[in-house]
Amino acid sequence: MNVHDSEKMLGVLQEEYSRTGDPRKADLIIFNTCSIRQKAEQKFYSELGSIKSYKKGRPDMKIGVAGCIAQHSGKNILRRAPYVDFVLGPQNIHKISDMVSEKAAPFALEDNSEIAIKDLPVKRTDGLKAWVTIMYGCNNFCSYCIVPYTRGRERSRYSENIYSEVVELADNGYKEITLLGQNVNSYRSDTDFPGLLRKLNRVGGIERIRFVTSHPRDLSDELITAISELPKVCRHIHLPMQAGSSRILRLMNRGYTYEEYIKKVAMLREKVPGISVTSDIIAGFPGETENDHQLTINSLKEIKFDGIFAFKYSKRPGTRAAGMQDHLKDEIKSERLNEILKIQDEITTKKNKLLEGTTQEILLEGESETDKGKLTGRTRTNKIVHIPKIDIKKGTLIKVEITKGRRHSLEGII
Ligand code: SAM
Ligand code: SF4
Repeated sequence: MNVHDSEKMLGVLQEEYSRTGDPRKADLIIFNTCSIRQKAEQKFYSELGSIKSYKKGRPDMKIGVAGCIAQHSGKNILRRAPYVDFVLGPQNIHKISDMVSEKAAPFALEDNSEIAIKDLPVKRTDGLKAWVTIMYGCNNFCSYCIVPYTRGRERSRYSENIYSEVVELADNGYKEITLLGQNVNSYRSDTDFPGLLRKLNRVGGIERIRFVTSHPRDLSDELITAISELPKVCRHIHLPMQAGSSRILRLMNRGYTYEEYIKKVAMLREKVPGISVTSDIIAGFPGETENDHQLTINSLKEIKFDGIFAFKYSKRPGTRAAGMQDHLKDEIKSERLNEILKIQDEITTKKNKLLEGTTQEILLEGESETDKGKLTGRTRTNKIVHIPKIDIKKGTLIKVEITKGRRHSLEGII
């Protein structure tokens, strides 16, 4: 989401600025920050400190702080770093040009009720895959999460505007879109999320439609049917479970029990054969007992996700969980996280090995980042495949045979 917000900032500023690879030579530096966990905040403050010296030799250089830390910390940022020129939250990207040219006040942190109506220009560079926002904000208030406080209330864009953006992307050669929202399943404007998928499935030139993130509570039968019926919608769902203990899920305010969650996964797998299911897991939520943790471990073994992102619980000031009793020691959180990652690594490797000998369709994304002698693509199920280099254009769909399943990727031949 932040990567795409940066594309919008570039879009708004494109008349006046272009990108440079060297921050020391920049006229303007914008930090687009994330505050989902404390680690991201610490990284930002250390980066911010390290560029102080740049400005000494270049007093005309402007420094802006955008994103969720900007929203949450506001004027405190100036107290810590008086050399910052402006601070704007994620709902105020439209003001960035005026803020840079000092036509607007140096703080923009207010709620923007028009965010889903007034679209911003977007400057993309990929040419093949594009992020497309379908909704802003979040109303869920999961007890650990800062997002509803920084990104404001849930607001959906009109399906017609999303459709036009996707048609334009297709006209410009884009092949894959990823629809973005904190909770895409609760998208609602003139249609609902399955309706939006049906509409976008008709756009010629677009080969693949992905979406993040789906909230398990709002995963409907209609959506599962749409995924199974629509050929462009990829067979992958990121469905964050967060924990395998229903007691912890209740404390997290997630709105489903573990039993309800596994029923939804079973239904997805029944109606959409071969679908890959990935998840987010939080280790060491306040009050999590060893028994709760073991329920999460058991759930990983039972569900066998294709992959997970797992994180240590991080206390976010102002959220409900921050005020709960029994916060766990960092040591325990680390131990539990490591156990989760170890078990899941084994599961992912086994699942990837099962694909050896199968034929998969991949969308070629270009040279591999780690091995220049190879090309990289992704399956519809979002698995990375490396193949020996051949003379084929980026953006081509090709069939490959999987020769090796590894922990984080697959090897294949054309
Ligand atoms: N809206 C998405 C959802 O509910 O599935 C997720 C959005 S959040 C940006 C991505 C992930 O960060 C969450 O699924 C959760 O696992 C993790 N997360 C959020 N707040 C956290 C916290 N305070 N500590 C640790 N992980 C956190
Ligand atoms: Fe955060 Fe929950 Fe909203 Fe996701 S659904 S952004 S975890 S509050």
